[in-house]
Amino acid sequence: MLQNETQETTRWRVLKFGGTSVASRERWIRIAEILRSRTSEGFAVALVCSAISGVTDLLSELVVTRRKGLDISALLDTLEARHHKLGKELGINAQAILAGDFETLRTLLSSSNIAPRAEAAIIGHGELMSTRLGAAWLSKNDVPCAWVDARELLIANTYPQDDASKYLCATCSPAPDEEVQSRLARRAQIIVTQGFIAASEEGETVLLGRGGSDTSAAYIACLLAAEKLEIWTDVPGLFTANPRLIPEARLLRRIGYRGAQALGALGAKVLHPRAIEAVWEHG
Ligand code: ASP
Ligand code: MG
Repeated sequence: MLQNETQETTRWRVLKFGGTSVASRERWIRIAEILRSRTSEGFAVALVCSAISGVTDLLSELVVTRRKGLDISALLDTLEARHHKLGKELGINAQAILAGDFETLRTLLSSSNIAPRAEAAIIGHGELMSTRLGAAWLSKNDVPCAWVDARELLIANTYPQDDASKYLCATCSPAPDEEVQSRLARRAQIIVTQGFIAASEEGETVLLGRGGSDTSAAYIACLLAAEKLEIWTDVPGLFTANPRLIPEARLLRRIGYRGAQALGALGAKVLHPRAIEAVWEHG
């Protein structure tokens, strides 16, 4: 595609997959199918992924354990084993692909004095690692894509706040950005990026709060002026209650922004209320 043609014709879709949806070969095969169907319809796709399920919890536990001055080698082994297992399933060399991440993690965890700044950098690694594995497997399986660091795309708001809020519970206020849209479209028809992480104005890693990948996907949809944001998970849609706990829960066929936000505020864990806010504002 010609450069100036790109800007006019790129129609973006943003697809978000959560932790269980990126945790096995079977799930990645499904992601590849969905990606192929979107690109064959002519869309450029931003794929936003969570960490492999359980990994963010493990990373948080590493921080807590290290702060207590306890041994973290068993936790690190578990973390490595989870990623190597997925790598093995996918037929890619996770050990080599993630060597740099594990080296950085070891350095960040070398002291028991872990400030929120380092905590964010540690906990944000789950998404970096899941997307590196996913992008490697997709590329190997005829789904050409480019791995993009979400910290290039999302810059957190700055206001007077303590370090814990600044680094662990950041917010962004993205607006449609044609320069970013054409820059990404030139890289590949599919870009693979991380949920949950953004950059501070100083370029440090910040987190969008637990469950923040939906919000990341919504922010990226705003940035790309996407036609649609698709949040893929392991239930077929929004329910009136958690269908695993309440058998009478009904699948909602339609819901407005206001209704979806109300559901979130009432504690439905399907969509983060902040994610709705962002897409509501940008239509
Ligand atoms: N991985 C992060 C978490 O578990 C973000 C997310 O998955 O939404 O909180
Ligand atoms: Mg979630």
